[in-house]
Amino acid sequence: MQITIQTLRDDRFLRPLQLIGGLFFEECTVAFEQENADLVVAIHIEGENAVTASAVLTETSTGRTYSASFSKDVAAYTNEKERFKQVKNTVSYVYLSVLQQLTGIEQKWGILTGVRPTKLLHKKLQSGMTKEEAHKELREEYLIHDEKIDLMQRIVDCQLSVVPDLYNLKEEVSIYIGIPFCPTKCAYCTFPAYAINGRQGSVDSFLGGLHYEIREIGRFLKEKDIKITTVYYGGGTPTSITAEEMDMLYEEMYVSFPDVKNIREVTVEAGRPDTITPAKLDVLNKWNIDRISINPQSYHQETLKAIGRHHTVEETIEKYHLARSMGMNNINMDLIIGLPGEGLEIFNHTLAETEKLMPESLTVHTLSFKRASEMTQNKRKYKVASREEITEMMHAAEDWTKEHGYVPYYLYRQKNILGNLENVGYSMPEQESIYNIVIMEEVQSIIGLGCGASSKFVHPKTGAITHFANPKDPKSYNEGYLKYTEDKLKILEELFV
Ligand code: SF4
Repeated sequence: MQITIQTLRDDRFLRPLQLIGGLFFEECTVAFEQENADLVVAIHIEGENAVTASAVLTETSTGRTYSASFSKDVAAYTNEKERFKQVKNTVSYVYLSVLQQLTGIEQKWGILTGVRPTKLLHKKLQSGMTKEEAHKELREEYLIHDEKIDLMQRIVDCQLSVVPDLYNLKEEVSIYIGIPFCPTKCAYCTFPAYAINGRQGSVDSFLGGLHYEIREIGRFLKEKDIKITTVYYGGGTPTSITAEEMDMLYEEMYVSFPDVKNIREVTVEAGRPDTITPAKLDVLNKWNIDRISINPQSYHQETLKAIGRHHTVEETIEKYHLARSMGMNNINMDLIIGLPGEGLEIFNHTLAETEKLMPESLTVHTLSFKRASEMTQNKRKYKVASREEITEMMHAAEDWTKEHGYVPYYLYRQKNILGNLENVGYSMPEQESIYNIVIMEEVQSIIGLGCGASSKFVHPKTGAITHFANPKDPKSYNEGYLKYTEDKLKILEELFV
């Protein structure tokens, strides 16, 4: 679908208009004044203090037109950046409205295309707005449907009860540790995940670098007396290394990091059931790991085969029971809605199987076609359910979790997510992952160590965010970890003076 925008020549509008176009059409290009476009949208902005945006969309093939206009008082926004944001929102409002009229598709998230909708609500409440005022703005200016506003509010309430000092965590940090190995690579995966077999040399060098990073960052935190709120081991699959390697790694954490006993939560993703062994569970227990993830994704064997997860459904169940019997009392399980070949019936089967296990938390993802995955590159090979059926599956997950005592406690959205839906973390009361909350709401710095680990530095005073990424592949990491550590320490020195 080619969309041409007339009369609005400011490049800053192009990306938001492209993102909104992408909510309606799978392949969509938006440009100014291009010829032979399928849709022509004329957008006008008028006024200084009260800005009015209007849009007229013409469908080239039929000559049909659709129009919308919206006004917003922006006099209170004296900061240029903030003012532009408001003008951009009025343009997005009218553009979304004409596309909704044309397609008949209602976007329940309105003009929001960002990853963290709940952060917007937190911000409004922190600025002193009442819930009612904030909801009104989300409904009337962002065109978000009540069902999503309600979900956002429930999540925000839950987060503030789990982490009452959520808005005051900027002086502390959390740590993410990325282990880039897996038994095999799944078809939808864009994480740093390298098949581990035959790579022992690479694993050894990687762990050498990682131990160094842990020591150096730990030294800095101790020197500056900075507390760690949470630690999260992700990847890849952090349990794909051996039990001895895990043991040494957690010992390093205890020796190097400050006051480990008082860290609120340490999570280790044991995502692939085929990596879990009694010896590794012993190690997790030995070092008091609070929370693990065992990820079925689906309980349909055909699906696991189709997406390249070389483990069986039985293995997921068996390893879950093993972890339970060995004392793991906070287990998360990830499910994915919209895996190839799956519809409502298979998803209901997955929920019925989940009912037999009742993990403490359940993260329900909606499949996203990320550019780099094998699945996206061979999209024709993988048949996925329709937008309507995906929505039904999402509702089934909402109903099921509600009936079984889970509450939603974090959510995020992605680009190219099926049905423009969201990923939601559900949990039994008081079993929520604090790490997931702090990372999603960007309330403190997350220091990323290891492969593919992104650091996000949140300035303790201003809240300004700086990103820093370690490389995804072990080879570049092994060659450059000294420099990556040094660069991060420099940023931290400036942040925590
Ligand atoms: S287990 Fe997870 S990280 Fe590993 S290949 Fe599969 S999706 Fe990627």
